Amino acid sequence: MSQTPPQTGAHLIASSLVDLGVDVIFGIVGIPVIEVAEACIAAGIRFISFRNEQAASYAASAYGYMTGKPGVCLVVGGPGVLHAMAGIGNSQINATFPLLLLAGAAPTTDSATKLSFQQLDQVSLLAPHTKLSLRPASLSQIPTTIRDAYRASFYGRPGATYVDLPADYIQTPLGDACLGSNACVAAVEAPPKVLADPTRISAIAAALKGARNPLIIIGKGAAYARAEDAVRGFVEETQIPFLPTPQGKGVIPDSHVLNTSAARSSALKGADFILLLGARVNWILHFGTRFAKGVKIAQVDIVAEELGRNGTDSGMSVVGDIDAVLSQLLPELRGYRHPESSSWRKMLQQTHERNLVKAKAKEQAVTRRGDRLSYQRVFRLIEDGLLAKAGSPDGLVYVSEGANTMDISRSIFSISSPRQRLDAGTYATMGVGLGYAIAASIAYPEKRVIAIEGDSALGFSLAEIETMARYRMPVVIVVMNNGGVYHGISDNTDSYGGEWEKDSRRQQGRLPSTALGFETEYHKVAEGLGARGHRVTDEEGLRKAVEAAWEYKEGPTLINVVIKSGAGGALSFGWLEKKEEGGKAK
Ligand code: ADP
Ligand code: MG
Repeated sequence: MSQTPPQTGAHLIASSLVDLGVDVIFGIVGIPVIEVAEACIAAGIRFISFRNEQAASYAASAYGYMTGKPGVCLVVGGPGVLHAMAGIGNSQINATFPLLLLAGAAPTTDSATKLSFQQLDQVSLLAPHTKLSLRPASLSQIPTTIRDAYRASFYGRPGATYVDLPADYIQTPLGDACLGSNACVAAVEAPPKVLADPTRISAIAAALKGARNPLIIIGKGAAYARAEDAVRGFVEETQIPFLPTPQGKGVIPDSHVLNTSAARSSALKGADFILLLGARVNWILHFGTRFAKGVKIAQVDIVAEELGRNGTDSGMSVVGDIDAVLSQLLPELRGYRHPESSSWRKMLQQTHERNLVKAKAKEQAVTRRGDRLSYQRVFRLIEDGLLAKAGSPDGLVYVSEGANTMDISRSIFSISSPRQRLDAGTYATMGVGLGYAIAASIAYPEKRVIAIEGDSALGFSLAEIETMARYRMPVVIVVMNNGGVYHGISDNTDSYGGEWEKDSRRQQGRLPSTALGFETEYHKVAEGLGARGHRVTDEEGLRKAVEAAWEYKEGPTLINVVIKSGAGGALSFGWLEKKEEGGKAK
């Protein structure tokens, strides 16, 4: 007679996650967490099994950003946790990527010095780098501990939390003590929306009305806050020009007439009042050094400590949720409208349009026979090909990484919906792309995910193509192959076509640090991993490959686009340093 195995701690972990509404877990199993993953799968949770914990942890955190509730990652202890620390750091620094990491741990009965299997004091290790790092005090404390960590990761500023899952808890049959009232946890409500100090709201409204050159900067905090309706409504009502940060793109469609993206330097330099919605004054905003002297900045952030970073506070900044704060601010501005005829608006619009025309010229320059494709031309052909199929950018989600690849593609692909463009983010983390693309495929099953990858960036998590293939995710991966990091192996020469073999530096074993295998057949690697692969060197080949990739919906396609070796440039922080008004990149 078969007996059903007793319910164990693994089941308690799974049922706690079900109670919290977790529907997908990203991770890699091994002893002792395999039982946890199996219990989760049996309980109806999807388990997405990766090839490296780093990619899994990135994916979980991005899932948190896209869905607004914590992404969950499950790994083994010791080395699994060390690899997943990449995701912990990335979650914390991005301030909008809630992540709950769960990891196996040595049994609680083992001494700390026993040298148990993969033993590591993970709670202490992660405590300084997370919002909360916990070990349940007993088996029966598992549900409440998981709930507390889940809750902490998205209450307040989103970030990473951690829970240790000791092997003995996982394997122990549940006694009556665990099956009592402790066994269930109530779902955690979404965090309440914080309203701002009303006196400061009045001060912002007054300053805004008195400003000649007002500007709204839209950060990824606004995207995470799901404030798109409020932000769009506010811009429509007030007619104030806006500038999105890289991941703030899409909160208002790029095509909006008040978008000043292509006049970024002028907007930052000329504004006398800035309403800063969910963006930190960090390197992405040049620490505020490019703002005009005397500019008044009203910052809206969910964290008080964030206000006035790098000396930018004007005594008007508020703590609050962007959606809620705009609902307070809008009534105070009733009747106010920034005039369409203002010299500020005209200047920005003209600069924006002039620069767009200049940029378009590069995109539209047809590649001459025998020449290598340029970044700009490749991106133009890809967008045209995708839009011809999708009809509108709404159905497309872009992930992009790699210094030049991310930088140049950012201004070419048009984003029309929030949270549909992910990039290397606040840490400029390369290697996030494939994990993010996997997360996006799950978060947006009805949309098509396009990963635009530098050849270097791709390499960090290349094996995750197999993950995509296994789950039949129709991600389109485009590799901009210039033979390395930044400008690749050479400065001016085109090493394609045999020259690479003869490159004297290669023969002498003295390649520059930026060099990577120029003729690496990424498309064949992808085929070996279960994807479809294409290698293209010209426009016609690219058009056909994009079309074929679109039509193939049973799994990923990788398009290896061989561009000129040396294309791109050394690190210049591209869009950060570029003066778009005719100036040279520094
Ligand atoms: P970007 O990368 O777009 O420049 P940052 O990551 O620097 O943006 O800033 C995002 C900010 O958004 C963080 O300071 C974070 O605290 C804030 N934030 C997150 N959620 C909310 C919210 N609901 N309301 C207001 N601010 C938020
Ligand atoms: Mg490269």
